[in-house]
Amino acid sequence: MRFDVITLFPELIENSFEYGVTGKALINKKIFVNTFNPRDFSEDVNHKVDDRPYGGGPGMVLQAEPMIEAIRRAKKQSKKPYTVFMSPQGNIFDQSKAKQFSKMEHLVIVCGRYEGVDQRIIETEIDEECSVGGYILSGGELPALIVMDSITRIIEGVLGDPSSAKEDTFSNGLLKHPQYTRPESGDYGDVPKILLSGDHELIRRWQLKQSLLKTRQNRPDLLENKAFNEEERELLDEIISEEQS
Ligand code: SAH
Repeated sequence: MRFDVITLFPELIENSFEYGVTGKALINKKIFVNTFNPRDFSEDVNHKVDDRPYGGGPGMVLQAEPMIEAIRRAKKQSKKPYTVFMSPQGNIFDQSKAKQFSKMEHLVIVCGRYEGVDQRIIETEIDEECSVGGYILSGGELPALIVMDSITRIIEGVLGDPSSAKEDTFSNGLLKHPQYTRPESGDYGDVPKILLSGDHELIRRWQLKQSLLKTRQNRPDLLENKAFNEEERELLDEIISEEQS
């Protein structure tokens, strides 16, 4: 997977990806990360890339020309670019979107700054607008990193144990069950006995029940459209009757 990021702050992108799972993915050439700075495409003597909004209003808007030039240069890096603009006005980026994007060969990710970008950039160059949540950040770089990181984890061969990504929260429409590691006990609590039982079937069922419980508590919206199998239905009934008793 190739990521080309259009940003006024290339170091933010380049320096943040060198750690952990994403750093390893870079070394192993599972991903390529490149940046294009619109300032390098500005014809202005001072490399200016922003100006005041027509019609008035606060702040500055990123100008179409240097942005479009940078985006077009990035798109030329492959035959099949897909261009995403990070924007609080976009569709919410979630795990299913990450999965969809992970199948692409080349993503061009455009980061806004200031009050945003000239609308004509979106109309001429952008395939999709994506938001990382219902809040406003000062630039598209953190959102771009979020998108790139979540895609990278699910690219084949990136995680050491391929079952890790499959068991992650959201991958089966549920939050992941709680996890414990050594030591078995401390003044902060004990590991649930069942996890020490060695009974894989009992453990699997307990973990599934915990997943359902946590999802019901923290993200009931995920359960609304989920198709439950028989075991999940059974466990959910157990949870509901335990809540009532
Ligand atoms: N004035 C704009 C917000 C500008 S924030 C508005 O009201 O819509 C500056 C830039 O930060 C945006 O262009 C976008 O690229 C990025 N950004 C801010 N919040 C974001 C979010 N929730 N998701 C994705 N990108 C975001």
